[in-house]
Amino acid sequence: MNAKAANSAHAWALGYARLVSGEAAVCPACGHTEIQARFVGDLETRLGYGLLWCPSCSRGGRLSRVNVPEDFEMRAWDDDAALDGVPEIRFPAD
Ligand SMILES: [Zn+2]
Repeated sequence: MNAKAANSAHAWALGYARLVSGEAAVCPACGHTEIQARFVGDLETRLGYGLLWCPSCSRGGRLSRVNVPEDFEMRAWDDDAALDGVPEIRFPAD
């Protein structure tokens, strides 16, 4: 599997599944193990979107509609600082 195929939206969705189940997510592109995440959405319903990224290679994935578990930090839609600290992410082309 080449790097481009590995860095797919599907691979990042799997990474999200691992994160929320308390497992370490591994970057599908470079293998780095400290994947970062930011969740933004409705704090009442916990519905929103997620950004995952690798601090090592800057690749990442976008999860357009997720149910964010209670134990994950989530920022509100209208929070001006919702995306503070999120780097420029290189998303998969697919
Ligand atoms: Zn990486």
